[in-house]
Amino acid sequence: MSNNIIVAIDGYSSCGKSTLAKAIAKKLHFIYVDSGAMYRAVALYFLRNNIDLDNTQQVAQALQNVHLNFHSRDYETHITLNDEEVSDEIRLMPVSDLVSAVSAIHDVRVEMVKQQQRMGQSKNIVMDGRDIGTVVFPAAQVKIFMTADPKIRAERRFKELAPKNPDITLEEVFENLAHRDYQDTTRKESPLTRAEDAIILDNTDLTPEEQLAFALGKIKPFLN
Ligand code: C5P
Repeated sequence: MSNNIIVAIDGYSSCGKSTLAKAIAKKLHFIYVDSGAMYRAVALYFLRNNIDLDNTQQVAQALQNVHLNFHSRDYETHITLNDEEVSDEIRLMPVSDLVSAVSAIHDVRVEMVKQQQRMGQSKNIVMDGRDIGTVVFPAAQVKIFMTADPKIRAERRFKELAPKNPDITLEEVFENLAHRDYQDTTRKESPLTRAEDAIILDNTDLTPEEQLAFALGKIKPFLN
C-alpha cells in the first residue's frame, strides 16, 4: 500500500495558497501541483475555440482535445496545453474572467479530479485549489484552509499582475476576486468549502515565513 503524504491547501482566490504550497514543496521536496492552473488552461482552450459552455456535447468533445502537462522547474508552475507552454497566458484577465464559469461545469471537474488523483497516487505532494481537501483527496493527512482580508488579497494580486497587465486597475482585480469567490462558493459542483478536518489559516497579518512554519508544524508528525 502506498503511504505517501498529501497536503491539501484550499481557500479563496489570491489568499497566498500557491506561495505557501510552493514553499512547503521546496522545503520538504514534495511535488507541487497547482490545480487552478489546470482549470485555467481548460478555460484558455475553451476561449480560443469559442466553446459554448452550455453545450454539453461541445464541452465533452473539447475536453477530449485538451492535453495538459506540468513541468516543474524551481517549483514554479509550468503547464502546457497540447504541448504549448501557456503558463503566462493563463494568468491574464480574459482567462481569469472565464475560469470560474468553466470550472463549474460537471464534466470539466470530473476530468480534472481524475487527473489530480492520479498525480497523488504514489508521491508526496502538496496541491492547492478549492476542493482538494473535500473532493480530490478527502483522506489527505494535512488539510489547510486559507483565508485573508479581501482588500489585502486584491492588493497582493494587483502587485503580482500589474507588471504583465499595464492597464489593470486595483478595482478591477478586487471585482474579479469577489466575483470568483462568489461563483466558487455558490456553484452546485464541489463548491469551495472548508473540509471539517481542515485547519484554518488566516494569513492577513502573517509573513510567508510564519505561514510556512505553521504548515510545517502540522506536516512534521507525518514525516518519518
Ligand atoms: O487558484 P486559481 O485562482 O488560479 O484558480 C482559478 C479558478 O479555478 C478558481 O477561481 C476556481 O474557479 C477554479 N478552481 C476550482 N477548483 C480547484 C482549483 C481552481 O474550481 N481545485
